[in-house]
Amino acid sequence: MAMSKKPSQDSLLNDNIIEEKIITADGEVQIKKYSKRKFLGKGGFARVYEFLSLDTRKSQAAKIIGKDQLTKQRRRQKLMSEIKIHKSLFHQNIVSFEHFFEDSENVYILLELCTNQTLSELLRRRKRLTELEVQCYMLQIISALEYIHKKNVIHRDLKIGNLFISEKMEIKLGDFGLASKLDYEGQKRKTICGTPNYIAPEVLDSKLGHSFEVDIWALGVIMYTLLLGRPPFETNDVKKTYNLIKMNAYSFPDQISVSSEAKSLITQILKSDPTRRPTLNDILEHEFFHMGNSIPKLLPVSTLAVPPSEA
Ligand code: ADP
Repeated sequence: MAMSKKPSQDSLLNDNIIEEKIITADGEVQIKKYSKRKFLGKGGFARVYEFLSLDTRKSQAAKIIGKDQLTKQRRRQKLMSEIKIHKSLFHQNIVSFEHFFEDSENVYILLELCTNQTLSELLRRRKRLTELEVQCYMLQIISALEYIHKKNVIHRDLKIGNLFISEKMEIKLGDFGLASKLDYEGQKRKTICGTPNYIAPEVLDSKLGHSFEVDIWALGVIMYTLLLGRPPFETNDVKKTYNLIKMNAYSFPDQISVSSEAKSLITQILKSDPTRRPTLNDILEHEFFHMGNSIPKLLPVSTLAVPPSEA
């Protein structure tokens, strides 16, 4: 299945048409065309655009990685690992991986398009979310984590910027660039990775090794961040943040009202010793999710801009 592309007249004339050359099993060449539309965002190595398939008229998000970024073997291997892991995941709360192809210049990863950005932009607009919203979003994140952990995958970069919001307001976990699949039960990973604010203490001590509990830690950081409007260990300096994480030094400011149930759950999750953190199941059974209100499956689109009305 060689997939290389020679720029055709069409694509030379129009930079916004991307061609995928497919060689079928019987040697026939098929060309699929995509129109490159809106720029959606930039990641570490990728630029992401909205792609419209001219065959199916379906819109997707295309993560474009220049091959000049992939000259180092390690970088290439990492991308292949991201693709392999993401391709194997099928869940309502995970950005679906549609497919990937390459041409002479780039690798293209086609993903489900999430039209409402991420929890990060949502929080920037709203400053803080209500407990009802946090209950609703957390349940969806937990559902995605239950699924990947069952498949022995650790995400390792769980953060509000990697939690996408679909058109229907579903949460979709994305960016498997740092994900890792364990080969056997009890295996530990040693590579230091993650995003400073969300890194679990055991990751900072590389001798210890880490596992699924790093995603649980990040879930606690996310819950705190959504309710209080900023991450628990945030400072203006990465080293200081790491020190606060190592000392487990965070607090709940008096000015912001947070229920005792929410504080209790965050405190249980943000335990320095990974073996003392609750499991996903323990979290679901926590009183925070059983406060007597009914938690909606999805929130209205209006909550992208304003808090839900208290009905
Ligand atoms: P990287 O892995 O290089 O960090 P990301 O996956 O984080 O790249 O994507 C970079 C940006 O592109 C995101 O912050 C977001 O704005 C946008 N983006 C990525 N995937 C999607 C998607 N499926 N739907 C909509 N926008 C997306």
